[in-house]
Amino acid sequence: MTASLSYAVDLTRRLVMCPSVTPAEGGALTLLEAELTQLGFEVAWLPFGEGAARIQNLYAFRPARDDGAAPHLAFAGHTDVVPVGDEAAWQFGPFQGAISEGRLYGRGTADMKGGIACFIAAIKEADTQGIKTGPLSLIITGDEEADAIHGTVKMVEWMQQQQIVPDFCLVGEPTNPTAMGEVIKNGRRGSLTGKLTVIGTQGHVAYPHLANNPVPALLAMLAPVNSAALDGGNDHFDPSMAQIVDLQIPDAAGNVIPNRAFGQFNIRFNTEHSQDSLMGWLNEHFTRIADDTGTSYEIEWMCNAHPFVTEPGAPIAALQSAIEAHTGRQASLSTGGGTSDARFICHICPVAEFGLVGQTMHQIDEHVAVEDIDTLAAIYTSFLRISCEAS
Ligand SMILES: [Zn+2]
Repeated sequence: MTASLSYAVDLTRRLVMCPSVTPAEGGALTLLEAELTQLGFEVAWLPFGEGAARIQNLYAFRPARDDGAAPHLAFAGHTDVVPVGDEAAWQFGPFQGAISEGRLYGRGTADMKGGIACFIAAIKEADTQGIKTGPLSLIITGDEEADAIHGTVKMVEWMQQQQIVPDFCLVGEPTNPTAMGEVIKNGRRGSLTGKLTVIGTQGHVAYPHLANNPVPALLAMLAPVNSAALDGGNDHFDPSMAQIVDLQIPDAAGNVIPNRAFGQFNIRFNTEHSQDSLMGWLNEHFTRIADDTGTSYEIEWMCNAHPFVTEPGAPIAALQSAIEAHTGRQASLSTGGGTSDARFICHICPVAEFGLVGQTMHQIDEHVAVEDIDTLAAIYTSFLRISCEAS
């Protein structure tokens, strides 16, 4: 360990030096196994997928160190990182772990090796302070940044088979926009994609009476999902929003009325809707337009996330107290932003997310303030203490 660095900062740095761009393990999970074993965890490797797509995941468990009253707390995170992009544009090597002017640079510092290191540092510190922890689970995947099909979703299924049911799970994604203590995420929106093809009758543009142009029908079908708010939001969520993301006319030519037109849209939806309610509403609308225009349509749906929310309760209150103690801030609860692995974990237990400042995640020169890493480790330690002592 570099003399002046805390354990949390040093472990973040060692994790960053593992080149774990999805799907590569890069030594990151191996490093975690060694650290966790020293803290009394039993580690299970959970590989999923075949061949080049095979992904390593790691589940670690430590039994209760109290009389059985303290809650079973879980922590979830991912060690995989997004590609570095233009490596020459980085000030420091993306896997070098350079520290300069109080900042630790490297791919994954914010998203989210720092969060994982802080949680492990918090357990180590809790042990030093003699905090009697309940059962602890760590759910660490190597497959979050890509398709996320061989990661947390399968680990959660495995945990269900093993009848492992934590009382609460904290996900260490970087939730703070600009400074530590700003935002806890206590839910996420759902995401539904529709790929819509409208079929008309091809013909010469000069003889439109002999053809049926599918483009006006497509535009009418897409009208309700064109940058539209679908509801007024609710106590936990902003309004659901729909956006058109692609429009195409295959084999377009200047003198031809096309026979097909294609549009793709994405809906980020809150708990006022479900996948089924949205699909039902839009299918009805598409059918009405098709009937009116004498066209037909095909639709392909993909729903990769359902909305969820964790109502504020004891664990979130413990997290808020811990945050306030170390930052002076009252963290607000948010359900904004993209999807995360919390969408899978919510099927086994209540889940919330709190981590580092995410300002530079996925960017060239991704970095975090060294001070923020120590603050997060202190917050996680207080969270463990408050949760375990309240029981
Ligand atoms: Zn992440």
